[in-house]
Amino acid sequence: MAATTIMITPYYLIDEKKLLRNLKIIRRVCEVAGAKAVLALKCFSTWSVFGLMKPYLDGTTSSGVYEARLGREKFGKEVHAFSVGFSRADIREVRHYADTVIFNSLSQLKSFYREVSGLKIGVRVNPGFSYSHFDLANPARRYSRLGVRDAGALSEVAGLISGMMFHFNCENDDFADFSRNLDRIGRNYGELLERLEWVSLGGGVAFTKHGYPLVQFCNRLKVFSKKFGVQVYLEPGEAVVTGCAELVTTVLDVVHNEVDIAIVDASTEAHMLDHLVYRTSAKIASPGPGRCKVVIAGRSCLAGDVFGQYSLKTRLKSGRVIRIADAAGYTMVKKNWFNGLPMPGICVRRLNGSVDTVKSFGYKDFIASLS
Ligand SMILES: *Cc1c(COP(=O)(O)O)cnc(C)c1O
Repeated sequence: MAATTIMITPYYLIDEKKLLRNLKIIRRVCEVAGAKAVLALKCFSTWSVFGLMKPYLDGTTSSGVYEARLGREKFGKEVHAFSVGFSRADIREVRHYADTVIFNSLSQLKSFYREVSGLKIGVRVNPGFSYSHFDLANPARRYSRLGVRDAGALSEVAGLISGMMFHFNCENDDFADFSRNLDRIGRNYGELLERLEWVSLGGGVAFTKHGYPLVQFCNRLKVFSKKFGVQVYLEPGEAVVTGCAELVTTVLDVVHNEVDIAIVDASTEAHMLDHLVYRTSAKIASPGPGRCKVVIAGRSCLAGDVFGQYSLKTRLKSGRVIRIADAAGYTMVKKNWFNGLPMPGICVRRLNGSVDTVKSFGYKDFIASLS
């Protein structure tokens, strides 16, 4: 039954049917390729839909102690724990949640491998190449601190580890590029891989995108896994949730300064931060495209709090609902209380069409976030 309640904007709306489409692709890839997929929680941690996700994924991977705990408590299955820097206290906590601990450096490995004996241990490698449209998100950028560069030093510690993690892609929809780089990993690290049990190829491959050559992708993973005798892991974040949510907002005012500017009851800075960080424009799911030119902007006091410039089929007026697309990955995990703005609730459209409000926030959450 479709929900008839009118919900108070702003809210994030996750659509389980769309999520299921991506999840089924991921499951199929894993079955055909013999790979495993762990959800990157740093992209998406909204645990109300973990029940739907769990049968299709092999577990979670984390970037910090709280994410590892969330993975253990709310998702289950395999828990991979990575951090750019573990403290000894972190390690003593994380070892209760994790099955696999991945160190970012050989110094961290040497300091802590004794603390995690009995768990699977891996090291992150920086292969010196990557695919990313943004220097900010490029793990092989100059002076990158992400992963071990020295292949010789790596082979000296091979006895301490059972696997390696290469996270070298960001929104990569170019299969030929992925394939070439996988070859390079095989050439440069093949001897070491043969001595290990598993390899994680990280996240950032856009393989749930329409038109991605899935048959070839599966085949490449399968051949790689066979050739070096390793279990292949994928760590998808964005690929799991792409296209699965909207940020639903309402126009509060329309002002004019050379162009019409519609101000909505949400904010890039507070609710869709990555558009500011990467200087990208949001996609508008509704209203559809047309001839009415308008800038859609947020209601924070930041001058550059702008979702983008659009040509829409309707002239926007106060009260009009605007649905901002692609609001799942790297949105809810980054929301903040800048300006003391009301925080979008979180709603889920279930497979049967009903909409649950799984979280709403209020003033008490704002004051609880500071003291
Ligand atoms: C960010 C990240 C991921 C997930 O990346 P997506 O682009 O969201 O797929 C996976 N693994 C590591 C180590 C990461 O840092």
